[in-house]
Amino acid sequence: MESTPALDPDLLEKVTNLAKRRGFIFQSAEIYGGFRSTYDYGPLGVNMLRNVKQAWWRSMVQLRDDIVGIDAAILGPPAVWAASGHLETFTDPLVDCRRCKERWREDKIDGVCPNCGSTEFTEPRAFNLMFKTQAGPVEGEGATAYLRPETAQGMFTNFANVLSTIRKKPPFGIAQIGKSFRNEITPQNFVFRTREFEQMEMEYFVPPAEAEQWYQYWVQVRHDWYLDLGIPREMLRLHEHAAADLSHYSKGTTDIEFAYPWGWDELEGIANRGDYDLTQHSNASGTRLEYFDQTANVRYTPYVIEPAAGATRAMMAFLLAAYHEDEVDGETRTLLRLDWRLAPYQVAILPLSKKPELEGVSREVLAKLQPFFMCDYDVTQSIGRRYRRQDEVGTPFCVTVDFGTLEDRAVTVRDRDTTEQTRVKIDDLLAELLDRANVT
Ligand code: ATP
Repeated sequence: MESTPALDPDLLEKVTNLAKRRGFIFQSAEIYGGFRSTYDYGPLGVNMLRNVKQAWWRSMVQLRDDIVGIDAAILGPPAVWAASGHLETFTDPLVDCRRCKERWREDKIDGVCPNCGSTEFTEPRAFNLMFKTQAGPVEGEGATAYLRPETAQGMFTNFANVLSTIRKKPPFGIAQIGKSFRNEITPQNFVFRTREFEQMEMEYFVPPAEAEQWYQYWVQVRHDWYLDLGIPREMLRLHEHAAADLSHYSKGTTDIEFAYPWGWDELEGIANRGDYDLTQHSNASGTRLEYFDQTANVRYTPYVIEPAAGATRAMMAFLLAAYHEDEVDGETRTLLRLDWRLAPYQVAILPLSKKPELEGVSREVLAKLQPFFMCDYDVTQSIGRRYRRQDEVGTPFCVTVDFGTLEDRAVTVRDRDTTEQTRVKIDDLLAELLDRANVT
Protein backbone atom coordinates (compact mmCIF):
# COMPACT_ATOMS: atom_id res chain seq x y z
CA MET A 1 0.00 0.00 0.00
CA GLU A 2 1.28 3.45 -0.87
CA SER A 3 2.33 5.61 2.03
CA THR A 4 0.57 8.94 2.42
CA PRO A 5 2.87 11.76 1.30
CA ALA A 6 4.07 13.87 4.22
CA LEU A 7 1.80 16.87 4.43
CA ASP A 8 1.75 20.02 6.46
CA PRO A 9 -0.69 19.32 9.35
CA ASP A 10 -2.04 22.86 9.00
CA LEU A 11 -2.59 22.60 5.25
CA LEU A 12 -6.38 22.42 5.39
CA GLU A 13 -6.58 25.49 7.58
CA LYS A 14 -4.09 27.40 5.45
CA VAL A 15 -5.96 26.65 2.24
CA THR A 16 -9.34 27.39 3.83
CA ASN A 17 -8.04 30.75 5.08
CA LEU A 18 -6.45 31.63 1.77
CA ALA A 19 -9.66 30.68 -0.04
CA LYS A 20 -11.63 33.08 2.10
CA ARG A 21 -9.08 35.91 2.30
CA ARG A 22 -8.50 36.00 -1.44
CA GLY A 23 -12.05 35.55 -2.67
CA PHE A 24 -12.15 31.88 -3.69
CA ILE A 25 -14.74 30.44 -1.32
CA PHE A 26 -16.93 32.17 1.28
CA GLN A 27 -19.25 30.73 3.89
CA SER A 28 -22.74 31.10 2.47
CA ALA A 29 -25.05 33.67 4.11
CA GLU A 30 -22.12 34.69 6.29
CA ILE A 31 -23.68 38.03 7.30
CA TYR A 32 -26.50 36.00 8.88
CA GLY A 33 -24.11 33.74 10.73
CA GLY A 34 -23.65 31.30 7.85
CA PHE A 35 -25.66 28.28 6.75
CA ARG A 36 -23.92 25.07 7.59
CA SER A 37 -22.29 23.20 4.75
CA THR A 38 -23.10 25.65 1.99
CA TYR A 39 -20.47 27.79 0.33
CA ASP A 40 -20.39 30.62 -2.16
CA TYR A 41 -17.68 30.94 -4.79
CA GLY A 42 -16.16 34.42 -4.93
CA PRO A 43 -14.56 36.31 -7.83
CA LEU A 44 -11.47 34.09 -7.97
CA GLY A 45 -13.22 30.88 -6.97
CA VAL A 46 -15.81 31.13 -9.69
CA ASN A 47 -13.06 31.50 -12.28
CA MET A 48 -11.23 28.47 -10.97
CA LEU A 49 -14.34 26.31 -10.64
CA ARG A 50 -15.33 27.19 -14.20
CA ASN A 51 -11.82 26.26 -15.32
CA VAL A 52 -12.06 22.86 -13.61
CA LYS A 53 -15.38 22.20 -15.35
CA GLN A 54 -14.07 23.52 -18.65
CA ALA A 55 -10.99 21.28 -18.48
CA TRP A 56 -13.29 18.29 -17.87
CA TRP A 57 -15.69 19.25 -20.66
CA ARG A 58 -12.81 19.81 -23.04
CA SER A 59 -11.27 16.41 -22.43
CA MET A 60 -14.59 14.50 -22.20
CA VAL A 61 -16.64 16.19 -24.92
CA GLN A 62 -14.72 18.64 -27.09
CA LEU A 63 -11.68 16.50 -27.87
CA ARG A 64 -13.70 13.34 -28.57
CA ASP A 65 -16.20 12.29 -31.18
CA ASP A 66 -17.87 9.59 -29.09
CA ILE A 67 -19.32 11.70 -26.25
CA VAL A 68 -22.06 14.34 -26.27
CA GLY A 69 -23.32 16.56 -23.49
CA ILE A 70 -26.69 17.34 -21.92
CA ASP A 71 -27.95 19.65 -19.19
CA ALA A 72 -30.91 18.07 -17.42
CA ALA A 73 -33.34 19.39 -14.80
CA ILE A 74 -32.45 19.37 -11.12
CA LEU A 75 -36.04 18.77 -9.95
CA GLY A 76 -37.44 15.34 -10.71
CA PRO A 77 -40.53 13.25 -10.05
CA PRO A 78 -40.53 10.34 -7.57
CA ALA A 79 -40.90 7.84 -10.43
CA VAL A 80 -37.31 8.47 -11.56
CA TRP A 81 -35.94 7.90 -8.08
CA ALA A 82 -38.08 4.87 -7.47
CA ALA A 83 -36.74 3.24 -10.64
CA SER A 84 -33.14 4.23 -9.97
CA GLY A 85 -33.28 2.69 -6.50
CA HIS A 86 -32.59 5.96 -4.70
CA LEU A 87 -35.89 6.10 -2.82
CA GLU A 88 -35.20 2.75 -1.30
CA THR A 89 -31.46 2.52 -0.95
CA PHE A 90 -29.84 5.94 -1.14
CA THR A 91 -29.37 5.98 2.59
CA ASP A 92 -26.60 6.31 5.12
CA PRO A 93 -26.65 4.65 8.55
CA LEU A 94 -27.55 7.35 11.09
CA VAL A 95 -26.70 6.96 14.77
CA ASP A 96 -27.27 9.27 17.74
CA CYS A 97 -24.61 9.57 20.42
CA ARG A 98 -26.36 8.61 23.66
CA ARG A 99 -24.29 11.02 25.70
CA CYS A 100 -24.12 14.30 23.73
CA LYS A 101 -27.03 13.58 21.30
CA GLU A 102 -24.98 14.53 18.23
CA ARG A 103 -25.89 12.60 15.08
CA TRP A 104 -23.28 10.80 13.01
CA ARG A 105 -22.87 8.61 9.98
CA GLU A 106 -22.01 5.30 11.60
CA ASP A 107 -19.57 4.15 8.91
CA LYS A 108 -17.42 7.27 9.28
CA ILE A 109 -16.72 7.40 13.04
CA ASP A 110 -15.08 4.07 14.04
CA GLY A 111 -17.42 3.63 17.01
CA VAL A 112 -16.27 6.76 18.87
CA CYS A 113 -18.24 10.01 19.02
CA PRO A 114 -16.01 12.71 17.48
CA ASN A 115 -17.74 15.28 19.70
CA CYS A 116 -17.57 13.76 23.20
CA GLY A 117 -15.64 10.48 22.87
CA SER A 118 -18.55 8.29 23.97
CA THR A 119 -18.90 4.80 22.49
CA GLU A 120 -22.62 4.50 23.26
CA PHE A 121 -24.90 4.96 20.26
CA THR A 122 -28.47 4.25 19.25
CA GLU A 123 -29.11 1.46 16.73
CA PRO A 124 -28.33 2.73 13.18
CA ARG A 125 -31.32 3.89 11.14
CA ALA A 126 -31.36 4.21 7.35
CA PHE A 127 -31.46 7.93 6.58
CA ASN A 128 -32.39 8.87 3.01
CA LEU A 129 -30.09 11.57 1.67
CA MET A 130 -32.43 13.06 -0.89
CA PHE A 131 -33.96 16.51 -0.44
CA LYS A 132 -37.69 16.29 -0.88
CA THR A 133 -39.84 19.27 -1.81
CA GLN A 134 -43.20 20.25 -3.27
CA ALA A 135 -43.71 21.50 -6.81
CA GLY A 136 -46.82 23.66 -7.24
CA PRO A 137 -48.40 26.73 -5.67
CA VAL A 138 -50.58 25.23 -2.93
CA GLU A 139 -48.62 24.22 0.10
CA GLY A 140 -49.14 20.60 1.03
CA GLU A 141 -51.00 19.80 -2.20
CA GLY A 142 -48.30 20.09 -4.83
CA ALA A 143 -46.61 17.15 -6.45
CA THR A 144 -43.70 15.69 -4.54
CA ALA A 145 -40.38 16.40 -6.22
CA TYR A 146 -36.79 15.60 -5.36
CA LEU A 147 -33.61 17.56 -5.90
CA ARG A 148 -31.33 15.20 -7.79
CA PRO A 149 -28.63 13.60 -5.62
CA GLU A 150 -26.54 12.85 -8.73
CA THR A 151 -26.59 14.01 -12.33
CA ALA A 152 -26.42 10.50 -13.78
CA GLN A 153 -30.14 9.76 -13.95
CA GLY A 154 -30.58 12.58 -16.48
CA MET A 155 -28.39 10.63 -18.89
CA PHE A 156 -30.43 7.44 -18.47
CA THR A 157 -33.84 9.08 -18.77
CA ASN A 158 -32.65 10.89 -21.92
CA PHE A 159 -30.97 7.85 -23.43
CA ALA A 160 -33.66 7.34 -26.09
CA ASN A 161 -33.90 11.08 -26.85
CA VAL A 162 -30.18 11.38 -27.35
CA LEU A 163 -29.91 8.20 -29.38
CA SER A 164 -32.65 9.30 -31.75
CA THR A 165 -31.21 12.79 -32.26
CA ILE A 166 -27.51 12.05 -32.75
CA ARG A 167 -25.87 9.46 -34.94
CA LYS A 168 -23.97 7.49 -32.32
CA LYS A 169 -23.71 3.82 -31.59
CA PRO A 170 -22.13 2.07 -28.62
CA PRO A 171 -19.52 2.69 -27.45
CA PHE A 172 -20.68 6.26 -26.92
CA GLY A 173 -21.20 8.50 -23.92
CA ILE A 174 -23.41 11.24 -22.50
CA ALA A 175 -21.77 13.79 -20.21
CA GLN A 176 -23.21 16.33 -17.81
CA ILE A 177 -21.95 18.90 -15.33
CA GLY A 178 -24.28 20.34 -12.73
CA LYS A 179 -25.47 20.73 -9.18
CA SER A 180 -26.45 17.80 -7.02
CA PHE A 181 -27.88 17.79 -3.52
CA ARG A 182 -27.48 15.33 -0.67
CA ASN A 183 -28.67 15.82 2.85
CA GLU A 184 -25.35 14.57 4.22
CA ILE A 185 -25.47 13.60 7.89
CA THR A 186 -22.03 15.00 8.63
CA PRO A 187 -20.88 17.45 5.98
CA GLN A 188 -17.25 18.20 6.68
CA ASN A 189 -13.77 19.16 5.62
CA PHE A 190 -14.54 22.44 3.90
CA VAL A 191 -15.98 21.75 0.42
CA PHE A 192 -15.01 18.05 0.43
CA ARG A 193 -18.47 16.98 1.57
CA THR A 194 -21.26 19.53 1.31
CA ARG A 195 -25.03 19.29 0.94
CA GLU A 196 -25.02 21.21 -2.32
CA PHE A 197 -22.18 20.48 -4.74
CA GLU A 198 -21.32 20.15 -8.38
CA GLN A 199 -20.69 16.93 -10.22
CA MET A 200 -19.10 16.04 -13.54
CA GLU A 201 -20.45 12.69 -14.67
CA MET A 202 -20.35 10.69 -17.86
CA GLU A 203 -22.30 7.56 -18.75
CA TYR A 204 -20.50 5.50 -21.38
CA PHE A 205 -22.78 2.96 -23.11
CA VAL A 206 -21.00 -0.12 -24.41
CA PRO A 207 -21.75 -3.57 -25.82
CA PRO A 208 -21.81 -5.86 -22.74
CA ALA A 209 -18.88 -7.94 -23.96
CA GLU A 210 -16.67 -4.82 -24.01
CA ALA A 211 -17.64 -3.51 -20.57
CA GLU A 212 -14.62 -4.76 -18.63
CA GLN A 213 -12.19 -3.35 -21.17
CA TRP A 214 -13.87 0.08 -21.17
CA TYR A 215 -14.03 0.10 -17.38
CA GLN A 216 -10.25 -0.36 -17.23
CA TYR A 217 -9.82 2.28 -19.94
CA TRP A 218 -11.84 4.92 -18.06
CA VAL A 219 -10.04 4.30 -14.77
CA GLN A 220 -6.78 5.06 -16.57
CA VAL A 221 -8.07 8.05 -18.54
CA ARG A 222 -9.60 9.71 -15.50
CA HIS A 223 -6.49 9.11 -13.36
CA ASP A 224 -4.33 10.68 -16.08
CA TRP A 225 -6.62 13.73 -16.29
CA TYR A 226 -5.66 14.75 -12.74
CA LEU A 227 -1.97 14.11 -13.46
CA ASP A 228 -2.11 16.21 -16.61
CA LEU A 229 -3.60 19.10 -14.64
CA GLY A 230 -0.75 19.05 -12.17
CA ILE A 231 -1.62 16.75 -9.27
CA PRO A 232 1.61 14.93 -8.35
CA ARG A 233 1.49 11.19 -9.01
CA GLU A 234 2.25 10.36 -5.37
CA MET A 235 -0.87 12.22 -4.22
CA LEU A 236 -3.16 9.90 -6.20
CA ARG A 237 -3.92 6.22 -5.87
CA LEU A 238 -6.48 3.77 -7.17
CA HIS A 239 -8.65 1.83 -4.79
CA GLU A 240 -10.61 -1.02 -6.29
CA HIS A 241 -13.61 -2.04 -4.18
CA ALA A 242 -13.76 -5.64 -3.02
CA ALA A 243 -16.68 -7.60 -4.47
CA ALA A 244 -18.41 -7.67 -1.07
CA ASP A 245 -18.38 -3.86 -0.82
CA LEU A 246 -19.90 -3.16 -4.22
CA SER A 247 -23.23 -1.32 -4.55
CA HIS A 248 -26.09 -3.58 -5.61
CA TYR A 249 -25.90 -2.39 -9.23
CA SER A 250 -22.13 -2.42 -9.63
CA LYS A 251 -20.01 -5.03 -11.36
CA GLY A 252 -16.82 -3.21 -10.44
CA THR A 253 -15.87 0.10 -8.86
CA THR A 254 -12.54 1.86 -8.55
CA ASP A 255 -12.09 5.07 -6.61
CA ILE A 256 -9.43 7.54 -7.56
CA GLU A 257 -8.22 8.64 -4.14
CA PHE A 258 -6.33 11.77 -3.22
CA ALA A 259 -3.98 12.35 -0.30
CA TYR A 260 -6.09 14.87 1.64
CA PRO A 261 -4.68 16.36 4.85
CA TRP A 262 -6.77 13.81 6.80
CA GLY A 263 -5.56 10.86 4.69
CA TRP A 264 -6.54 9.02 1.52
CA ASP A 265 -10.13 9.70 0.51
CA GLU A 266 -12.30 9.64 -2.60
CA LEU A 267 -11.85 12.12 -5.42
CA GLU A 268 -13.77 10.31 -8.14
CA GLY A 269 -15.42 6.93 -8.63
CA ILE A 270 -15.47 4.84 -11.80
CA ALA A 271 -18.09 2.10 -11.89
CA ASN A 272 -19.17 -0.65 -14.24
CA ARG A 273 -22.93 -0.39 -13.67
CA GLY A 274 -23.87 -3.22 -16.02
CA ASP A 275 -27.33 -2.84 -17.57
CA TYR A 276 -28.93 -1.98 -14.23
CA ASP A 277 -29.99 1.60 -14.95
CA LEU A 278 -31.35 1.20 -18.46
CA THR A 279 -33.20 -1.98 -17.47
CA GLN A 280 -34.75 -0.35 -14.41
CA HIS A 281 -35.94 2.68 -16.38
CA SER A 282 -37.18 0.52 -19.26
CA ASN A 283 -39.26 -1.57 -16.90
CA ALA A 284 -40.58 1.35 -14.88
CA SER A 285 -41.34 3.73 -17.76
CA GLY A 286 -42.44 1.28 -20.41
CA THR A 287 -40.02 2.89 -22.90
CA ARG A 288 -37.51 0.47 -24.32
CA LEU A 289 -34.04 1.75 -23.60
CA GLU A 290 -32.03 -0.46 -25.90
CA TYR A 291 -29.78 -0.27 -28.91
CA PHE A 292 -30.62 -1.96 -32.17
CA ASP A 293 -27.47 -2.96 -34.01
CA GLN A 294 -28.60 -3.07 -37.64
CA THR A 295 -25.49 -4.72 -39.04
CA ALA A 296 -25.67 -7.64 -36.63
CA ASN A 297 -29.47 -7.45 -36.48
CA VAL A 298 -29.48 -7.67 -32.67
CA ARG A 299 -31.18 -5.60 -30.03
CA TYR A 300 -29.46 -5.26 -26.66
CA THR A 301 -29.32 -3.19 -23.49
CA PRO A 302 -25.90 -1.52 -23.34
CA TYR A 303 -23.76 -1.74 -20.23
CA VAL A 304 -22.75 1.50 -18.61
CA ILE A 305 -19.32 2.63 -17.46
CA GLU A 306 -19.57 5.71 -15.28
CA PRO A 307 -16.74 8.03 -14.27
CA ALA A 308 -18.37 10.23 -11.57
CA ALA A 309 -16.35 13.20 -10.34
CA GLY A 310 -17.07 16.17 -8.11
CA ALA A 311 -16.21 19.57 -9.56
CA THR A 312 -16.12 21.30 -6.19
CA ARG A 313 -14.22 18.41 -4.61
CA ALA A 314 -11.74 18.38 -7.49
CA MET A 315 -11.20 22.12 -7.13
CA MET A 316 -10.36 21.56 -3.48
CA ALA A 317 -7.85 18.84 -4.38
CA PHE A 318 -6.23 21.09 -6.97
CA LEU A 319 -5.91 23.86 -4.36
CA LEU A 320 -4.43 21.50 -1.76
CA ALA A 321 -1.93 20.07 -4.23
CA ALA A 322 -0.93 23.52 -5.50
CA TYR A 323 -0.33 25.15 -2.12
CA HIS A 324 3.36 25.78 -1.49
CA GLU A 325 5.52 27.94 0.67
CA ASP A 326 9.04 28.76 -0.47
CA GLU A 327 11.65 31.42 0.08
CA VAL A 328 12.32 34.31 -2.27
CA ASP A 329 14.93 36.97 -1.40
CA GLY A 330 15.03 35.75 2.20
CA GLU A 331 11.27 36.04 2.63
CA THR A 332 8.72 33.27 2.86
CA ARG A 333 6.19 33.44 0.09
CA THR A 334 2.96 31.54 -0.38
CA LEU A 335 2.16 30.38 -3.86
CA LEU A 336 -0.36 28.23 -5.65
CA ARG A 337 1.41 26.24 -8.33
CA LEU A 338 -1.75 25.87 -10.36
CA ASP A 339 -1.67 24.73 -13.95
CA TRP A 340 -2.38 27.80 -16.09
CA ARG A 341 -5.64 26.19 -17.30
CA LEU A 342 -6.99 26.19 -13.75
CA ALA A 343 -5.61 29.47 -12.40
CA PRO A 344 -8.29 32.11 -11.64
CA TYR A 345 -6.16 34.69 -13.44
CA GLN A 346 -3.72 33.54 -16.07
CA VAL A 347 -2.00 36.88 -16.59
CA ALA A 348 -1.76 39.96 -14.37
CA ILE A 349 -0.96 43.28 -16.00
CA LEU A 350 0.89 45.48 -13.56
CA PRO A 351 1.73 49.08 -14.47
CA LEU A 352 4.82 49.95 -12.44
CA SER A 353 3.33 53.23 -11.36
CA LYS A 354 -0.09 54.86 -11.21
CA LYS A 355 1.22 57.76 -13.32
CA PRO A 356 -1.13 58.48 -16.23
CA GLU A 357 1.68 58.07 -18.83
CA LEU A 358 1.66 54.30 -18.20
CA GLU A 359 -2.09 53.81 -18.29
CA GLY A 360 -2.59 54.00 -22.06
CA VAL A 361 -0.01 51.40 -22.97
CA SER A 362 -0.98 49.19 -20.00
CA ARG A 363 -4.59 49.13 -21.14
CA GLU A 364 -3.43 48.40 -24.68
CA VAL A 365 -1.58 45.32 -23.38
CA LEU A 366 -4.62 44.31 -21.32
CA ALA A 367 -6.95 44.55 -24.34
CA LYS A 368 -4.53 42.49 -26.44
CA LEU A 369 -4.44 39.63 -23.92
CA GLN A 370 -8.02 39.58 -22.61
CA PRO A 371 -9.56 37.64 -25.51
CA PHE A 372 -7.08 34.81 -24.87
CA PHE A 373 -6.45 34.84 -21.13
CA MET A 374 -8.39 35.69 -17.98
CA CYS A 375 -6.48 38.80 -16.88
CA ASP A 376 -6.18 40.83 -13.71
CA TYR A 377 -5.21 44.51 -13.81
CA ASP A 378 -3.66 45.80 -10.63
CA VAL A 379 -2.12 49.20 -9.94
CA THR A 380 -2.22 49.22 -6.13
CA GLN A 381 0.81 48.91 -3.81
CA SER A 382 4.46 48.24 -4.58
CA ILE A 383 5.38 45.91 -7.42
CA GLY A 384 6.92 43.40 -4.98
CA ARG A 385 3.69 43.26 -2.98
CA ARG A 386 1.69 42.80 -6.18
CA TYR A 387 3.90 39.90 -7.31
CA ARG A 388 3.32 38.21 -3.95
CA ARG A 389 -0.42 38.74 -4.20
CA GLN A 390 -0.47 37.16 -7.65
CA ASP A 391 1.74 34.24 -6.51
CA GLU A 392 -0.68 33.58 -3.67
CA VAL A 393 -3.62 33.13 -6.03
CA GLY A 394 -1.63 31.16 -8.58
CA THR A 395 -1.34 33.63 -11.47
CA PRO A 396 1.28 32.01 -13.75
CA PHE A 397 2.44 35.20 -15.50
CA CYS A 398 2.82 38.82 -14.45
CA VAL A 399 3.37 41.44 -17.13
CA THR A 400 4.93 44.64 -15.85
CA VAL A 401 4.68 47.86 -17.80
CA ASP A 402 7.34 50.42 -16.85
CA PHE A 403 8.65 53.75 -18.10
CA GLY A 404 11.08 51.92 -20.42
CA THR A 405 8.01 50.51 -22.17
CA LEU A 406 7.26 53.98 -23.49
CA GLU A 407 10.69 53.95 -25.24
CA ASP A 408 11.14 50.34 -26.37
CA ARG A 409 7.55 49.02 -26.52
CA ALA A 410 8.63 46.06 -24.41
CA VAL A 411 7.34 44.71 -21.08
CA THR A 412 8.71 42.43 -18.37
CA VAL A 413 7.20 38.96 -18.09
CA ARG A 414 7.67 37.34 -14.69
CA ASP A 415 7.23 33.62 -14.16
CA ARG A 416 5.38 32.63 -10.95
CA ASP A 417 7.33 29.47 -10.17
CA THR A 418 10.88 30.56 -10.99
CA THR A 419 10.33 34.34 -10.46
CA GLU A 420 12.49 34.74 -13.57
CA GLN A 421 11.93 37.97 -15.50
CA THR A 422 12.27 38.41 -19.25
CA ARG A 423 11.89 41.47 -21.46
CA VAL A 424 9.42 40.87 -24.31
CA LYS A 425 8.27 43.19 -27.11
CA ILE A 426 4.56 44.02 -26.88
CA ASP A 427 4.15 42.79 -30.46
CA ASP A 428 5.55 39.37 -29.49
CA LEU A 429 3.81 39.16 -26.09
CA LEU A 430 0.72 37.18 -27.03
CA ALA A 431 2.71 34.58 -28.98
CA GLU A 432 5.23 34.33 -26.13
CA LEU A 433 2.54 33.78 -23.48
CA LEU A 434 0.61 31.27 -25.57
CA ASP A 435 3.87 29.43 -26.10
CA ARG A 436 4.80 29.45 -22.41
CA ALA A 437 1.33 28.34 -21.40
CA ASN A 438 1.74 25.58 -23.99
CA VAL A 439 -1.66 26.32 -25.45
CA THR A 440 -2.54 23.53 -27.84
P1 ATP B 1 -19.22 9.15 -0.26
O1 ATP B 1 -19.14 7.67 -0.10
O2 ATP B 1 -17.94 9.87 0.07
O3 ATP B 1 -20.43 9.77 0.37
P2 ATP B 1 -20.09 8.54 -2.88
O4 ATP B 1 -19.21 7.34 -3.13
O5 ATP B 1 -21.50 8.37 -2.52
O6 ATP B 1 -19.37 9.47 -1.82
P3 ATP B 1 -20.58 9.20 -5.59
O7 ATP B 1 -22.02 8.97 -5.47
O8 ATP B 1 -19.73 8.17 -6.27
O9 ATP B 1 -19.97 9.49 -4.14
O10 ATP B 1 -20.34 10.64 -6.22
C1 ATP B 1 -19.39 10.87 -7.22
C2 ATP B 1 -18.49 12.03 -6.86
O11 ATP B 1 -19.28 13.18 -6.51
C3 ATP B 1 -17.61 11.79 -5.64
O12 ATP B 1 -16.43 11.10 -6.00
C4 ATP B 1 -17.31 13.20 -5.20
O13 ATP B 1 -16.25 13.77 -5.97
C5 ATP B 1 -18.59 13.93 -5.52
N1 ATP B 1 -19.42 14.04 -4.31
C6 ATP B 1 -20.28 13.12 -3.81
N2 ATP B 1 -20.88 13.55 -2.70
C7 ATP B 1 -20.38 14.81 -2.46
C8 ATP B 1 -20.61 15.80 -1.46
N3 ATP B 1 -21.50 15.60 -0.48
N4 ATP B 1 -19.91 16.96 -1.55
C9 ATP B 1 -19.04 17.18 -2.56
N5 ATP B 1 -18.78 16.28 -3.52
C10 ATP B 1 -19.44 15.11 -3.49
